Amino acid sequence: MDKEYTILMLPGDGIGPEIMGEARRVIDWLGAKRNLKFKIHEGLVGGAAYDAHGMPLSPEILELAKQVDVVLLGAVGGPKWAGVDYDRRPEAGLLTLRKELELFANLRPAICFEALVEASSLKPELVSGLDIMIVRELTGGVYFGEPRGIETLENGERRGVNTQVYTTSEIHRIARVAFDLAGKRDGRVTSCEKANVMESGLLWREEVTVIAAEYPEIKLDHMLADSCAMQLVRAPKQFDVIVTDNLFGDLLSDVAAMLTGSLGMLPSAALGAKGGCAMYEPVHGSAPDIAGRGIANPIATILSLAMALRYSFDCATEARLIEDAVQKVLAAGLRTADIMQPGREQVSTAVMGDSIIGALDSLNK
Ligand code: NAD
Repeated sequence: MDKEYTILMLPGDGIGPEIMGEARRVIDWLGAKRNLKFKIHEGLVGGAAYDAHGMPLSPEILELAKQVDVVLLGAVGGPKWAGVDYDRRPEAGLLTLRKELELFANLRPAICFEALVEASSLKPELVSGLDIMIVRELTGGVYFGEPRGIETLENGERRGVNTQVYTTSEIHRIARVAFDLAGKRDGRVTSCEKANVMESGLLWREEVTVIAAEYPEIKLDHMLADSCAMQLVRAPKQFDVIVTDNLFGDLLSDVAAMLTGSLGMLPSAALGAKGGCAMYEPVHGSAPDIAGRGIANPIATILSLAMALRYSFDCATEARLIEDAVQKVLAAGLRTADIMQPGREQVSTAVMGDSIIGALDSLNK
């Protein structure tokens, strides 16, 4: 029997339902035209779940998330829930999912589509053909380290503390994700830390080097994180896979993201332990300013689905097909408002979805 892939779709808030609707159409297309079998569950998360149940993630949905292969999430949040307690805010639903599913590896590709080269803030020749994968450690480091807090000293001064901390096992597992990915790409990993001034950075460098020995076919370089930030805007095409900690990854992945021109184009993945559930979601938020107007760009969500096909379902052919369809539609001049350029045709969310389905049909031989 053909394998059945289980997906939990959590559209969330704002533009979430609109963009997820287009991803759903691509899933249905894959079922009809590529004979892939999907079992789809749908549920509420974020503000939508808060409105329905008084909490941003119900125990039932969390349990379901633990059972499926993949969670595909739209976005959460919005001004409507600004006054809600922090532990019940929409964003708390997302953080709980990441924590409970032990999603320790955040994958953020920065790919520059040829048709959007002009949208980047860098010169076209610097970003044309760009294809970087940033692997960010997501559950450790200074965002979680103890002790933390703000205290008032005896002299009345206040003192804020956060602790950067990593263990060998945390470094080893994220390093393996990076080396495995590089094996499917150009075979190069750049590991970034601040080994010059931080002991945790030195440990990071040493332990990534230990894991590199398991991957003799992969070339490993080390780079200081500040230097990496500089190189990302000077000569970004030198990189293949960048692996780094939670804090530096947060910053470097945002820098890399902007090389590609638009938030509406950027997918991401968060992977857990091998065999466990993974979560895929666009990098952008719920865009309350344009929600309900049918003008949101669905491409980041559709490309997140492509990542799920590649990394969770081993369906690289279908992933490539989706990426080629997006490329084809952009090359034909279709643009949603966020990526609109002079001389191109501005289309709605639904028309962008239609066009991608049309391109899939024409590419599917
Ligand atoms: P945002 O990413 O929602 O929007 C930033 C800008 O980009 C807005 O002008 C928006 O219209 C535009 N934009 C974003 N996605 C777009 C798309 N697909 N198509 C067209 N335009 C798009 O960030 P924000 O405004 O800072 O945050 C809004 C809400 O989203 C907040 O409540 C925030 O907490 C939440 N948020 C959620 C996530 C998530 O769910 N992972 C991530 C970031 C922000």
